[in-house]
Amino acid sequence: MIKSFPYKLGVIIPTGTILYIGLVLVVLFPQYTQTKILPAWLGALAWLLLIYWLACTTDPGYVNPEFTDEWEVKCKVCDVIKPERAHHCKECNRCVLRMDHHCPWTNNCVGNNNFPHFMRFLGWVIIVNGVALAGYFVYWVRVLDDWGMPGYLMPRYKLVLGLLGLIGSLLVEITITLLFLRSILNIVSGQTQIESWEIERANTIARRIDPSNLPEFPFDVTLGLNWSVAMGNFFLSWWPWAGPGTDGHDFPKLFYTSVRWPPATPENVHDWYTVKRWRTSEGDNITDFGVDAEIDDVEVEVPPGAAEDAATEQIEDKPKASPAKKRGGRKKKVSS
Ligand SMILES: [Zn+2]
Ligand SMILES: [Zn+2]
Repeated sequence: MIKSFPYKLGVIIPTGTILYIGLVLVVLFPQYTQTKILPAWLGALAWLLLIYWLACTTDPGYVNPEFTDEWEVKCKVCDVIKPERAHHCKECNRCVLRMDHHCPWTNNCVGNNNFPHFMRFLGWVIIVNGVALAGYFVYWVRVLDDWGMPGYLMPRYKLVLGLLGLIGSLLVEITITLLFLRSILNIVSGQTQIESWEIERANTIARRIDPSNLPEFPFDVTLGLNWSVAMGNFFLSWWPWAGPGTDGHDFPKLFYTSVRWPPATPENVHDWYTVKRWRTSEGDNITDFGVDAEIDDVEVEVPPGAAEDAATEQIEDKPKASPAKKRGGRKKKVSS
């Protein structure tokens, strides 16, 4: 879905929608053009476009080439050591810190450094579009009151503009509110969109092997810390230029967890990321978030024979022939 999006269309559609919903209201309520309501409303639209522009242009965060950690998982393309939670984005073709997802609507990755911008954009869309939606409702209540009016008192083109505006703002309000609530849930759970996929995938793999021993997600610490990692200081979070609480390389972790997330693949499971068919219960494939699965699956050496019984999982998941198999099953995959 992301790949099929032409470069500029992803930005033109939201910009056009904002302008349409906002400016049609001005046409529908000409009685307010001489009042302070007009400049206030145009100011709100400009504010929304500014917040949107920041979400589109703020860098999601590069990996510091000097960075190193105990695992030293290298990206095959970027040639940097990847911090936990970083992923190689297929669209941006580079590693993105604490990658949340690649957003076609901002034509930008949502990562550590610009996640607050993304959330602020969603928040302001809900507020400004909510006002617009109320305006369209008022307009339609009046139209239905004056249904019997002749055409010169109720221009027909306004009805078409107003109907499209009502439908558009209603759809925007519903979808953006759902996305916003989902993202708030992710924030307080200490997760990114990608990690919510990883958690379900890791649990699915672990359940097949030992249902009593599911991996623990290490970045869900305290509510306050979860918020701070994603959004920075709670009270400054909605200030347009406020940044996140970390540099995207190190994160607070549950003190008793020392494993790297996502957990290493058990020996008999191939293609943690690259398995094509696997989707979460919500229908998400990892590539829907922009992750380059081929790049993110990293091989490490394991003792000979450890991957002998790969056949079971191959049947269940039907991945393409994995490099580990071709090389006689002497490697296992961990995901970075
Ligand atoms: Zn990379
Ligand atoms: Zn990207």
